[in-house]
Amino acid sequence: MAFQRKDFLLIAGILFLLIGLMGVGLAPIYSVIISITIYAGIKIFIGRRKKMIEKEVGEGICVKCGSKIENQKCPICDRKKS
Ligand SMILES: [Zn+2]
Repeated sequence: MAFQRKDFLLIAGILFLLIGLMGVGLAPIYSVIISITIYAGIKIFIGRRKKMIEKEVGEGICVKCGSKIENQKCPICDRKKS
């Protein structure tokens, strides 16, 4: 899976949560466990939602940018790759 700006924002949010949890006096190890659990939960949730969107849209519209898919390729995203 490619590293995206959304992932960076998620990690930043989790780090703030981690600092917050330690700030209220929770043991660092529990703070880390809670943060990782929430991070994994969010990642799974995003993955499922993405699959649901893909299922609903089919091959009509690109999930990433919303462009019309032609010949199973997005004219914008697939052009960037190559
Ligand atoms: Zn696209």
